[in-house]
Amino acid sequence: MMKYRTFLIFGAPGSGKGTQGKILGAIPRFFHFACGDVFRALDTRTELGQAFLEYSSRGQLVPDDLTVKLWHARIVDVVRAHTFKPDIDSLVLDGIPRNVGQARIMTDLLEVKTVFHLTCPDRNALITRLKKRALKENRFDDANEEVIRRRLGTYDAESRPVLEFYGPDLMKEIDATQTPLKVALEILQTINSIS
Ligand code: ADP
Repeated sequence: MMKYRTFLIFGAPGSGKGTQGKILGAIPRFFHFACGDVFRALDTRTELGQAFLEYSSRGQLVPDDLTVKLWHARIVDVVRAHTFKPDIDSLVLDGIPRNVGQARIMTDLLEVKTVFHLTCPDRNALITRLKKRALKENRFDDANEEVIRRRLGTYDAESRPVLEFYGPDLMKEIDATQTPLKVALEILQTINSIS
């Protein structure tokens, strides 16, 4: 079975993963998959939609088996629709894998080329960004500071270890407090130098 050539966009909530994922996804031969967007688009009357609401409103991750199944089902759909052509396209993953359990389940499917780690040590800067996003994008999980803090805690405890899982050779750290243009430039230069 063929593995998907993959770039991971990784970072704490508010670090700008979605912004960078969209920029990359707008370039031909890159397919952007934003896990949070897929969850938010679920019909909340379905079991999975309910599970998403329940976990995300508490600042927690949706269980791994549900998350990876949803991801895989969507990927199979876009491959069938020829929106994502794995033989010539690169996959840009934003928001998944989000813990080591997910990374393990996905190992057989991903050929990870680079993990872009968008770093922002200043927690207050992230919180400010998330609160702004809550107003602009109607994100209920960003509106409440208590939930935001819990999400940042979940990131430290569960997501950060994913960086060690992939190891230093695949990792490219980028200062997420730079302008979106500068972050995008660093990402593009890195991809350009390896492909
Ligand atoms: P952020 O980057 O701000 O955390 P996302 O839109 O990526 O926002 O995710 C919003 C919420 O969706 C998360 O807090 C989590 O509850 C759920 N979620 C998204 N991706 C995953 C994932 N890979 N595994 C489990 N839960 C996820």
